[in-house]
Amino acid sequence: MKEIPELFGSMVFNDHVMRQMLPKTVYKSLKRTMQEGTALESDVADVVAACMKDWAVSKGATHFTHWFQPMTGITAEKHDSFISPDGNGNVLMDFSGKELVKGEPDASSFPSGGLRATFEARGYTAWDPTSYAFIKDDTLFIPTAFCSYTGQILDKKTPLLRSMDVISAESIKILSLFGKTVKRVTATVGPEQEYFLIDMKDYAKRPDIKLTGRTLFGAPSPKGQEKDDHYFGTIRPRVKAFMAELDQELWKLGIPSKTEHNEVAPCQHEMAPVFETANIATDANQLTMEVMKQVAERHGFACLLHEKPFEGINGSGKHNNWSLSTDTGENLLDPGKTPSENAQFILFLTAIIKAVDDYQDLLRLSVASAGNDHRLGANEAPPAILSIFVGEELEEVINSIIEGRNAKSGSRNKIELGMVLPKLPQDNSDRNRTSPFAFTGNKFEFRMLGSSFNIACTNTILNTAVSESLSLFYDELSKASDFSKALHELVKRELTEHKRILFNGNGYSKEWEEEAERRGLLNYKRTPDALVHYTDEKNVALFKKHGIYTREELKSREEVLIDEYQKQIHIEALTMIEMLKKAIIPASITYSDKLAKGIAVKKSIGIDAEAEMKICREITDSVASLLSKVEKLSADVESTPDDVYEAARFSADVLIPDMDDARAVADHLETIVDKKEWPMPTYADILFYF
Ligand code: ADP
Ligand code: MG
Repeated sequence: MKEIPELFGSMVFNDHVMRQMLPKTVYKSLKRTMQEGTALESDVADVVAACMKDWAVSKGATHFTHWFQPMTGITAEKHDSFISPDGNGNVLMDFSGKELVKGEPDASSFPSGGLRATFEARGYTAWDPTSYAFIKDDTLFIPTAFCSYTGQILDKKTPLLRSMDVISAESIKILSLFGKTVKRVTATVGPEQEYFLIDMKDYAKRPDIKLTGRTLFGAPSPKGQEKDDHYFGTIRPRVKAFMAELDQELWKLGIPSKTEHNEVAPCQHEMAPVFETANIATDANQLTMEVMKQVAERHGFACLLHEKPFEGINGSGKHNNWSLSTDTGENLLDPGKTPSENAQFILFLTAIIKAVDDYQDLLRLSVASAGNDHRLGANEAPPAILSIFVGEELEEVINSIIEGRNAKSGSRNKIELGMVLPKLPQDNSDRNRTSPFAFTGNKFEFRMLGSSFNIACTNTILNTAVSESLSLFYDELSKASDFSKALHELVKRELTEHKRILFNGNGYSKEWEEEAERRGLLNYKRTPDALVHYTDEKNVALFKKHGIYTREELKSREEVLIDEYQKQIHIEALTMIEMLKKAIIPASITYSDKLAKGIAVKKSIGIDAEAEMKICREITDSVASLLSKVEKLSADVESTPDDVYEAARFSADVLIPDMDDARAVADHLETIVDKKEWPMPTYADILFYF
């Protein structure tokens, strides 16, 4: 094994490589493009491309691909080889600046929500030089943005990059009020990734997991997670070997994988990287999910990224740790030590509290999917209601500001709120794990994301919503003649207005749901209820003001995601029907036939087979009931409306309850049919495979 520092980033065309390989002027010009977003000149692009190709070829690469993130959140790639015939029957390895900077995948089948008619399918990809190119599977990957021919955005990266520029600009303005000059403020993100590893042999025997990512059937295992003996437990050697290789592969790609541990559910694990800029963290997380699946296969595992692979067992989420840092090295969510730093922190904190309250709907819909519906509100996950946990100490500070208890009057020209913050705890033990949006010392942790999500959307919304608060605050404060007084008034007013979003108690409790309703907080329980708010007027106005999305672009996202939801439920329903008809019902009949034959024989020799009769009858009755449920489900699937919005609601209102009904009977059959006859591995087999 190579030394880790040598291994780290060895497959990345990073700053170090660029500095070594590029002529000085080209390097400088590229750096300017990266830092200031200026356009890359074509002669510069040619030189960069040639160096990139030489570097990639020296590492064994034969192909290149523009790598992008369409609206569905997966990543897409189309590989071209570097070869170019020289006219004499030989080939050269070639790669031009044009090929680096712009690509035109025939992307007509990516969902565009009506933004791009198929006849002009020419979406194009454009290099994002702020995220390094890298080599994976003998291919040079070039991170790109994806737009339609007419310039409308078709991906998740472009809005994220725009939102990062906006939050930088708005934060810089606010900092100027505190007498600070900074060049750039960056949204930083550290996403903790949860996942399940199950044995490939079990995976292969479960069509539901293969086709839908989760189990559609399965009676509870006699042992589940009740003993909490898996959380942070000793990692089994086979899993350990997987984790070690995962780290190696991620490190090669420059992804700073830092922490690996077992999670609460059996077979559930987590990986947390060191945080990076929101853009790089997003690319890295997409890549992490892919690499996890690949490495798992090499170890005889299937890696499940679904939010709820097993009923009754914790699901998987992704905790999005988010903060803002300046190019001068300051973390803006660090409370600081002096009164002025404290005041600045309180202002940013107030901006975030306001943003989360004003745009609860957007944050909620950024985590809406068929998979995550099983998780949000279930017992291990934050509810579908947004609220913020700030901890007791900070809540006391907020209350004292609201009640005017600590305010010193007459502190003219001094930037302070009349108080020095108490030292806030920064350790893990004190945290409220049930909160969807928790302050954890010097960052916020948004916990509603599902494990399979692309984090771009959430961070775009977070950046934009906070930018809006900051922008309104700046407008008010920059006009004030007495900054300190104006700051005081603003903070007091805004905290009073948005206090309802603060909640330190148990977010999983029924009482909180009722309390949240009294407070007027939103509670969109299901994906179709949440997604339609993408295009609410206030949200359209927000994104338009900050130049992130147009109304049409928002509408297209809404449609793509609603369509994706209803397709997922549709696939689950069809998979369920197939498994019931071809496996579960036949197996149950086979077993009842066996019993019946035995009963007949026993009766013929005068043995009264009461017990067998009872089991046989129960199976026969259950099969009859199950068959009628399959028929209902099939008929309902057939009558799904054509319109995507109606189909999504129909899926939630009709198909899901149908599926729940059928599952209940099938799971009951699993508990009475002979294990040898049961056509698939059970929860106990899968979850305790060792
Ligand atoms: P826990 O599981 O206790 O919440 P972890 O150590 O697993 O904590 O993960 C914390 C995550 O937060 C890591 O990815 C870490 O890099 C990230 N993080 C720490 N500081 C910041 C910051 N300033 N901005 C964004 N993310 C951060
Ligand atoms: Mg963690």
